[in-house]
Amino acid sequence: MMGGTFDPIHHGHLVAASEVAAMFHLDEVVFVPTGQPWQKSDRTVTPAEDRYLMTVIATASNPQFSVSRIDIDRGGPTYTSDTLRDLRAERGPDTQLFFITGADAMSQIFSWRDPQDLFGLAHFIGCTRPGHVLKDPGFPEGGVSLVEVPALAISSTDCRERVAQGLPVWYLVPDGVVRYINKRELYRGEA
Ligand code: ATP
Ligand code: MG
Repeated sequence: MMGGTFDPIHHGHLVAASEVAAMFHLDEVVFVPTGQPWQKSDRTVTPAEDRYLMTVIATASNPQFSVSRIDIDRGGPTYTSDTLRDLRAERGPDTQLFFITGADAMSQIFSWRDPQDLFGLAHFIGCTRPGHVLKDPGFPEGGVSLVEVPALAISSTDCRERVAQGLPVWYLVPDGVVRYINKRELYRGEA
């Protein structure tokens, strides 16, 4: 699974997911847009339904990719430990769970709720991300893999700022996501 705010989803997310799926021979990648992200309570996050739909649009053509509403429908702040427990309950005990994350989120992992529990819930895969150093702050033996993925210096923050400034986001996000942003007039007033 790959959790994220996906505000909006961009090609950095998609490349990381695709690379990890190939490297680890994953059957599928489930994108899980957050409900209300507790680390981002300082800014207004786009309504969950818009973020969910953009994630669906971006992943629809890949048969290996799907999107789960699990965090959106739970309501309240999203904690990764809840997400992983719910996915485990949904998929059953025989499913091996992998949590895909970028270097920035990976380094923060010890500040998340229930950090020690997390490693028992899934195998964590930290992907390189331009502008962030992927270092091991003392992860448990065998619980985490750090992998290199093609460097795409794209962030949702940058995409939002570009839209607000009238700059293009073509080729940073999938075409359908550009069209959805325009249709819904997202990110216009954020500069
Ligand atoms: P924001 O700027 O709003 O924080 P973001 O681009 O960081 O957005 P998130 O939705 O916060 O996107 O990230 C979801 C996950 O994807 C995180 O684990 C993050 O580290 C990872 N990720 C995001 N962009 C990239 C990228 N360009 N390369 C690799 N991993 C990425
Ligand atoms: Mg982020």
